[in-house]
Amino acid sequence: MNIKVLDTTLRDGEQTPGVSLTSLDKVIIANQLDEIGIDFIEAGSAITSEGERNAIKEITKQNFNAEILSFSRPLTADIDYCIDCDVDAVNLVVPTSDLHINDKLKSSREKVLDLSNNAIDYCKDHGLTVELSGEDASRSDVDFLKTFYDNAIDHKVDRICICDTVGILNPDSSFDLFSKISCDVSVPVSCHCHNDFGLAVANTLAAIKGGASEFHSTINGIGERAGNTSFEECVVGIDRLYSEFSTNIKINKIYNISKLVSRSTGVHIQPNKAIVGDNAFSHESGIHSDGIIKNSATYEPMTPELVGRKRKFVLGKHIGTKGLNNKLKEWGINVNEKQLKQICDDVKVLADKGKTVSDVDLQVITDNVLQINHEDRIKLNDLTIVSGNKVMPTASVKIVIDGEEILNAGVGLGPVDAAINAVKSLDIFKDINLIEYHVDSITGGTDAFIDVLIKLQKGDKVVSARGTEADIINASVKAYIAGVNRLLGDF
Ligand code: MN
Repeated sequence: MNIKVLDTTLRDGEQTPGVSLTSLDKVIIANQLDEIGIDFIEAGSAITSEGERNAIKEITKQNFNAEILSFSRPLTADIDYCIDCDVDAVNLVVPTSDLHINDKLKSSREKVLDLSNNAIDYCKDHGLTVELSGEDASRSDVDFLKTFYDNAIDHKVDRICICDTVGILNPDSSFDLFSKISCDVSVPVSCHCHNDFGLAVANTLAAIKGGASEFHSTINGIGERAGNTSFEECVVGIDRLYSEFSTNIKINKIYNISKLVSRSTGVHIQPNKAIVGDNAFSHESGIHSDGIIKNSATYEPMTPELVGRKRKFVLGKHIGTKGLNNKLKEWGINVNEKQLKQICDDVKVLADKGKTVSDVDLQVITDNVLQINHEDRIKLNDLTIVSGNKVMPTASVKIVIDGEEILNAGVGLGPVDAAINAVKSLDIFKDINLIEYHVDSITGGTDAFIDVLIKLQKGDKVVSARGTEADIINASVKAYIAGVNRLLGDF
């Protein structure tokens, strides 16, 4: 059975504390959502603001395959704004629990039924498709919930949605509730789950098993409080674990859209997050790496390529000689058994100090063991920074490139930005992109050593490098130059 996906990244996802998307961000994300095969896009809530309406209008202009919805309360004012934005459909959200009806609306079940029925009529009269969401449905009296949806179906609602607004279902109760409602309604049933107990995906899958044919989710599971059902986990879960269900999603584009949403919202993805987390296809342990190299199925339930990713072998204290040798071979370096063991031991010594072993660290260790003297093409001779609350941060650098000393300057938003700009505006750095920048303080106080880990990219080559200094600017520039030296080097 085909399961439809309603994406609410641009509505519930945007309600993540601290997240606000520009119109342009929203249009770019909506484009990707349509491209990846989302069936319904909830573009926002038209009543919210002028800016929100402009974003929704921009999205409805694009002629996407996906149906475009706006969130709406059962009020004429809300619905009029939706009509004004030219959406195809509304997600009409009506509270159904006594808690919400009595304490929030100060109303009664009867009045809520009237409100809902009238709103559906008004929408239908204006040519809108209506998905009716029972807000806090999971804490509502089931008999009232049935009456509520039956009324809506009499008023020609197109789809109904059961919302677990505060995430209190578990897979058993979710299955029961969806089975009870789905078995006697004639329209598609959708499911909207929140992740307060970390069960949103499990509850959504149980809802589908119970009869739901649509689910709401957000990219990376962002949303209010602990978030919503995570799109990527749910879609890949259906694809891999339930042969009786399928979706229209192009799974190999999942990683790209996850990165896009993370960048635009500023909400980082936890490293151990399923499917899209940094570590989801990374292997450090020697035993695992050895197995993976022989047959990836030994320690991976799916290939990274399935979701548009690549496998990573991470260097750390659990690395074995086989995984390490594999990495060195990727770099075109051949070592004998004794050298390999020495490199492995040295990597472990560094890792035991609690450090991530970057590519540049491994290069230095390998160079030492093989007694290779790599002459760095770029060296930093001097770095001066002017910064304060009344001046634009400015940096001047003296850099030696292939033996020739060059003086350069740069400005930036902060001193680190200024220093990196002073370095990278030189010709030799063009085509090199900084794709990741992490700062950690190794000890507690303001006198702490700062560990800067960066990733640089040139074409399809990516390297990680580190700088550790008491001074964050020196650490950043050191990491940057070390990474560039490695990118420009012969291995
Ligand atoms: Mn919600």
